[in-house]
Amino acid sequence: MKAMLIAGNWKMNKNTQESLQLVESIGNGIKKGKTAPKVIVCPPFTSLESVSKLMGSYDIFLGAQNCFYKSEGAYTGEISIGMLKHLKCSHVIIGHSERRTHFFETNDMINLKVKACLAQGITPIFCIGETLGERNAKKTYSVLRRQLTVGLNEIPQGKISRIVIAYEPVWAIGTGVAATREQVEDAHIYIRSLLEDGYGKKAEQLPILYGGSVTPENAESILSINDVNGALIGGASIKAESFLQIIATAQNIISGNK
Ligand code: PEP
Repeated sequence: MKAMLIAGNWKMNKNTQESLQLVESIGNGIKKGKTAPKVIVCPPFTSLESVSKLMGSYDIFLGAQNCFYKSEGAYTGEISIGMLKHLKCSHVIIGHSERRTHFFETNDMINLKVKACLAQGITPIFCIGETLGERNAKKTYSVLRRQLTVGLNEIPQGKISRIVIAYEPVWAIGTGVAATREQVEDAHIYIRSLLEDGYGKKAEQLPILYGGSVTPENAESILSINDVNGALIGGASIKAESFLQIIATAQNIISGNK
């Protein structure tokens, strides 16, 4: 049975009250059972504390959208992994393209964050992906290779299976233009091969999510690809109806109905 992970990145949307309402609607709409995908919601920092109080009530995991790699100190505006764990966060998005673009996060910085996550026992959802210019210049493979190699630098064999990778072509994020089945399949096979080169059998089980304009309409086509183990979803994750439709599609695929 194919395991599947569906994660919602709410970005800078939803205040505390709206976040609670959204999690309740999602939680109440999830159909339980062995074929249910693992569902993660990543609200903004300001909502984590209130949403964390609902976590025991639903089959949902809590994630954050970012963290800093230092554990405490004079880092104004930053949030540590310890603080996230205190709020029952099990996952944290690392290296999202919006952080790379707007907040100048580098591959080296992202590597420090991935290492800190593993050292402190929280699962990083490590995002990689090429820009349109890089794809058009036929640099997709070299960009993915560099992001993966630097981002996973010094990660030992024994820890690699605790990472989730999200392939998110930058040109597909928030644009309404998802990558085609062929583009997704090709990138995922390439990422898997890089991981297997570095980590052998340990990399076989590592989930690789696709992210970039996933909607209820295209979810089946994307999630049914062999090497796709789930999705990281932005826009369609902040409406319960569309997020639940995608979760239901994943569930159908897991149970072999599609
Ligand atoms: C994202 O923010 O990671 C994302 C994939 O956004 P969207 O689904 O809106 O493209």
